[in-house]
Amino acid sequence: MIAIDGPAGAGKGTVARRLAARLGYRLLDTGAMYRALAWSVARAGLAPEDTPALRKHVERVQIDLEGDRVVVDERDVTDEIRSPEIATLTSRLSMLGVVRDKLTPVQRRMAATGGVVLEGRDTGTVVAPDAEVKFYLDASLEERARRRQLELRARGVEVDTDTARRDIAARDAQDSSRVLAPLRKADDAIEVDTTGLSVDQVVGVLAEMVERRRREGCS
Ligand code: C5P
Repeated sequence: MIAIDGPAGAGKGTVARRLAARLGYRLLDTGAMYRALAWSVARAGLAPEDTPALRKHVERVQIDLEGDRVVVDERDVTDEIRSPEIATLTSRLSMLGVVRDKLTPVQRRMAATGGVVLEGRDTGTVVAPDAEVKFYLDASLEERARRRQLELRARGVEVDTDTARRDIAARDAQDSSRVLAPLRKADDAIEVDTTGLSVDQVVGVLAEMVERRRREGCS
């Protein structure tokens, strides 16, 4: 098991996908599952503070990852969950125990077979604390905002730099300060600052470290 955590826009998604492909591992995008749940809450017209209704909804909704597709109650929501609005709602909902208690066990089950790259905020600390290799990817706020802006542009969504920077900073503050499974570097995680590095360079660094761990494990 390889766990990759870090703040929004640190490059985790792209890097995790490429690293998994290179190693022949499965990718477990835990953020996509939180986003899918948030999408379903929005679609059901529920307010995050309506706890009884939210609990009932969370109990029955079915979130699946099928290859690189994200599925909610048999509907493919892979593209719809990538909007800034869903990102903001996701961060609000993911601090709630009812939400984490639903997804954490599912993620643990999905990872249990091994041969998996987990990506998210709490994969090295809560979902898979026994992962063999853990990374914490970070980058400057400027660069993370710029990357998010380019990523959204590629999806046909325009946001200005100030908005991207503000959204990311607000999400990070919320994700890091929550009581349950906050975003933080696991004590045994390898920190990689991706500022100024290309995706190829970051994947190369991570793959090299995984190889080194494997050699250490064999010797
Ligand atoms: O990584 P991504 O931007 O898709 O994550 C969306 C949101 O989901 C995060 O801002 C965070 O609030 C939540 N999340 C989480 N725990 C994870 C992964 C994501 O709380 N393991």
